Amino acid sequence: MSEVDYRAAYLAASAEATRLRAEVEALRAELAAHQRTIPALPTDDGGTPIEWGPWEQAPTPVSHIPVDCDQCAHPGPPLLALGRAGGVIRYQAVRCPACQQMRVCRRDHIGLRVHLTEIAYHPPQGGMRA
Ligand SMILES: [Zn+2]
Repeated sequence: MSEVDYRAAYLAASAEATRLRAEVEALRAELAAHQRTIPALPTDDGGTPIEWGPWEQAPTPVSHIPVDCDQCAHPGPPLLALGRAGGVIRYQAVRCPACQQMRVCRRDHIGLRVHLTEIAYHPPQGGMRA
């Protein structure tokens, strides 16, 4: 390779690096915007700390989780996170992947039934996207 070839290769590589840096910045901004739209889960319920698992697509059908969103036209399934208190699943959070409406409930077992008490609610966010 001549000196001119090295210089051309160097310029091409640095142009590629600049392009990649811009791409990474754009992706970071997109990720930050996406994370801002996800409502925060409560860290405790009246002093009882809640340990949340990851958001996952809710299995369907599940009797005590509504499938479609009552705020937007999203057909579901919603996203589900389970919260543990003292190692036992005691809480559930259900979130619409489109409008981000979120309900957080405590599950109380009364006999064979699961009774849900809402402890937190986040209204749907504007600019609905499917
Ligand atoms: Zn929705």
